[in-house]
Amino acid sequence: MAVEQTLSIIKPDGVQKNLIGEIISRFEKAGLEVIAARMMHLTIEEAQGFYAVHKERPFYGDLVSYMTSGPVMVQVLSGDGAISKNREIMGATNPADAAAGTIRADFADSIEENIVHGSDASETAAVEIDFFFGDGVCPRTR
Ligand code: ADP
Ligand code: MG
Repeated sequence: MAVEQTLSIIKPDGVQKNLIGEIISRFEKAGLEVIAARMMHLTIEEAQGFYAVHKERPFYGDLVSYMTSGPVMVQVLSGDGAISKNREIMGATNPADAAAGTIRADFADSIEENIVHGSDASETAAVEIDFFFGDGVCPRTR
């Protein structure tokens, strides 16, 4: 499987629950490497832009409010099959449908407040990484 990069966000509820270390530890234990990271509080414009693909959905306004309700931790993960591996570790969007042992099954309160974001395909991963880390990532040299 090819080495990929994917964008991961620990959403405001994950940060509030003090799960940054727990979540990143799960990625690391699965063999993924953090090659960029930043803690930030998204503006409304940033959240709207990031989730522009969902702008016609009925939950878009609530999603933007949620994503701007507190700081987030944004990181780029690298590794073999990183995009699907991250999605597997996250679990399904709705925690009620998420497999046991996934982040969303273990920690999410609802289909909206579901703790983490992960890119869903190589095209979206490239766009999302550029959205937050247009200045570049920090590839591992050891
Ligand atoms: P995922 O984050 O699993 O890729 P989507 O891209 O479909 O899921 O949706 C983006 C985010 O929008 C979800 O993670 C969740 O926070 C929110 N969301 C998705 N579906 C709903 C819904 N039916 N009601 C409320 N919020 C939703
Ligand atoms: Mg998505």
